Amino acid sequence: MKLVRIFAVATLLAASSGAFAAGKVCKVDIAGGDNMQFDKKEIAVAADCTEVEIVLKHSGTLPAAAMGHNWVLAKTADMAGIATDGISAGVANDHIKKGDTRVIAHTKIVGGGQTTSVKFATSLLKKGEAYSFFCSFPGHWSIMKGAFKFG
Ligand code: ZN
Repeated sequence: MKLVRIFAVATLLAASSGAFAAGKVCKVDIAGGDNMQFDKKEIAVAADCTEVEIVLKHSGTLPAAAMGHNWVLAKTADMAGIATDGISAGVANDHIKKGDTRVIAHTKIVGGGQTTSVKFATSLLKKGEAYSFFCSFPGHWSIMKGAFKFG
């Protein structure tokens, strides 16, 4: 019985280390300030990235209630609808409608001096699809947005 248990643990370790070796996490730093702007207009993720980690820093000083920022990823065609539905969702829900399946990934909303991050698998993305990232804080998405390219 003891031998069987050891074998099972060894198999599990081999499987997890194998997955780790094949994975590539690509980290992207982006900042948003009190001027209601992201410091990037475009994010390009290479096809060999298996996961993307977005680190969002609010480089300003204004609180989240006045100048909150988040980072939301969606198909460009879904951006306006997500942003509109996000207004009534409120800051407590990060201005994302609960259960909004159009949202591929999003961070929480942060205020001045705060940092947040989100990690997601590129298996959620399709090569050649038009994606955009934006801030869903009310009134921000028309300016705080950029193209997100995968592949
Ligand atoms: Zn914002």
